[in-house]
Amino acid sequence: MSEPPTIRVGSPKPARQLFIPVVGENADLCDRFIRTAMAGREAPFGEIELEGWALLLKRMSEPPDRDPTWAPRFSVADGALLLAQHLDRASLTALSERLQAVPNRDERPLILLFCRPEGVREFKIGCPICGQKLWVQDAEIGKMGRCVRCDARIEIVSPADVLRRELQLSDRTPILSVDPTDAGLCRGAIANLIARKGFGVRPDSGVSPADFLKKATVPIRSS
Ligand SMILES: [Zn+2]
Repeated sequence: MSEPPTIRVGSPKPARQLFIPVVGENADLCDRFIRTAMAGREAPFGEIELEGWALLLKRMSEPPDRDPTWAPRFSVADGALLLAQHLDRASLTALSERLQAVPNRDERPLILLFCRPEGVREFKIGCPICGQKLWVQDAEIGKMGRCVRCDARIEIVSPADVLRRELQLSDRTPILSVDPTDAGLCRGAIANLIARKGFGVRPDSGVSPADFLKKATVPIRSS
């Protein structure tokens, strides 16, 4: 006769722990994402429980060559979330530096998140010729536009296409859109990662119009 199963009272449920760096060039965005995922608790790092996993999230927004914790943290990381917001040249260069510094990034579960609040229908890109920052509307995706500064013709592609091309991401790295203030979406993105594991310038400021354009982000002109 077999023994009835013993009920153990008060024994801690074994939590499987994962460490997930939240990588991005914008510290505020990383913190907002972590705070949202943790339902309002403190960034820049914190622990949440999700689908039986204890997850430690940590903002990593410093340039890798200036962050002495980069290598030790990635030696124990179980994956990484990369956060993108703006798609102008400077933002993409900064994000690319961080992506390139992720060790074993081809084998490591990685997800790139394009972060934009719900209801926003525009995003910032950079002119491929002169670098001018330009706002484009979602409705302009698939159309041609012209840079207001150098007049170059620009094919307007989706944020995901810009990110995949500019960061040279393989198809194995998913790109998801999330609202960084939506807890369900932020947690969904983390759950997706776990599943993948298998577990302004004033006109009188003396700045020339060309410099102003270079620093400001302006709407793209219709072609
Ligand atoms: Zn241009």
